[in-house]
Amino acid sequence: MFKTEYAKRVYAELEKKNAGEKEFLQAAKEIVESIEGYIAKNPKMEQQKILERFLEPERFVQFKVVWVDDKGEFQVNRGFRVQYNSAIGPYKGGLRLHPSVNASIIKFLGLEQVLKNSLTTLPMGGGKGGSDFDPKGKSDNEIMRFCQSFMTELYRHIGPDTDVPAGDIGVGGREIGFLFGQYKRIRDEFTGVLTGKGLTYGGSLARTQATGYGLCYYAQEALKALKNTSFAGKTVVISGSGNVAIYANEKATSLGGKVVAMSDSNGYIYDKNGINLDVVKQIKEVERGRIKEYVERVKGAEYHEGCRGIWSIKCDIAMPCATQNELNLEEAKTLVKNGCIAVCEGANMPTELEAAKYLIENKIIFTPAKASNAGGVATSGLEMSQNSLRLSWSFEEVDQRLHDIMVNIFNASYKEAKEYGSNDFDLLTGANIAGFKKVAEAMLAQGI
Ligand code: NDP
Repeated sequence: MFKTEYAKRVYAELEKKNAGEKEFLQAAKEIVESIEGYIAKNPKMEQQKILERFLEPERFVQFKVVWVDDKGEFQVNRGFRVQYNSAIGPYKGGLRLHPSVNASIIKFLGLEQVLKNSLTTLPMGGGKGGSDFDPKGKSDNEIMRFCQSFMTELYRHIGPDTDVPAGDIGVGGREIGFLFGQYKRIRDEFTGVLTGKGLTYGGSLARTQATGYGLCYYAQEALKALKNTSFAGKTVVISGSGNVAIYANEKATSLGGKVVAMSDSNGYIYDKNGINLDVVKQIKEVERGRIKEYVERVKGAEYHEGCRGIWSIKCDIAMPCATQNELNLEEAKTLVKNGCIAVCEGANMPTELEAAKYLIENKIIFTPAKASNAGGVATSGLEMSQNSLRLSWSFEEVDQRLHDIMVNIFNASYKEAKEYGSNDFDLLTGANIAGFKKVAEAMLAQGI
């Protein structure tokens, strides 16, 4: 519930204008609720309509993507790019390929990205894009033809100093390669227009690992500051088995945790001895298979149909790393009843707002996505820096910078949580305010 008339009025207007856009309104509501305390202290914000201006994307592009499948049939998909806010730098944010993609999802992700990018302290505005194209079961040639068609429209909206897309669900190294190749062909330019590139053509070491590793670096700081503990000896459950989940598993394990469960959209695996990550990488990264194949290769492991059952497994630390709204209030209560002390978000908005509030009220560590999964975009920012310098840093150097950025993001969000939060565990409010302050100040400075 909103406490100020200004927030109430702005949100009511937003609801009216964006009726039916569930994910977008959910993200906007969470942000407005948590920053209204800060806004109330700064009368200029209301005078200059900063909240209304912040919530409205600068540009939203929707386009048609036509491609030909392997059978020679024509296929039509819908492409999107939202250029949300450029107050502190060029638009920056990933591309998602998933059948669920629509305007609401792209706008929610774009809005979150504005604050996330601000938190990294790097000069990046916020954007997001994607398509309702389903990459599952497609051949490499079909993926290539889709990516080429998608870029044939997108190229006119992006550029290394304008808007720099990256990967997200369904977009990894293979897709970025095809997108980059098509951009280069059309523009006749070799620039850092995309991040997440391969190492032979301008990619950064440690970008693949960055979101998962960064999540664990942030979680490590939160565990230390709020519960005086660490990953050592903790049982960890991670949903998803994509890029974020795999590298969260790798880092959590190296910090002393034992990851016992992972999932995909069909079901989850449970391995009480600790998941063998090499087997998961082989299935998901090399063979592009399904997580249930794990139990055919590792003795004693179990597979359960239905991905949501994963939250009923007893654990100390839960890391939702698959998709939005994958953890609800009932599931959060089950986790807490089973002794869970931390829920660390790797995916974007995986926890429903009521569940997040419940965790914070009960002094369970809750690390909000826009802070704890910012390591991916932070390292994309480092990739942009390396491209501009025409230099490549070593894995260790990038990883060290990533670590320092995640520690800084934790400190910034913890500081604001202590000043504005409902309690010291309210990193959700803390992260929103820390990210918003910088963007709002830049907007005020630049006029309308
Ligand atoms: P991937 O495509 O590599 O993996 C996604 C994983 O989530 C897969 O295991 C997938 O299962 C599962 N999944 C996807 N959609 C659903 C769904 N509707 N229900 C259940 N499970 C689902 O994506 P990433 O690992 O890159 O991204 C995961 C999350 O992290 C997303 O929210 C993304 O926005 C966020 N993120 C990613 C960053 C990055 O650097 N990659 C940076 C910051 C945030 P299946 O194979 O069955 O579809």
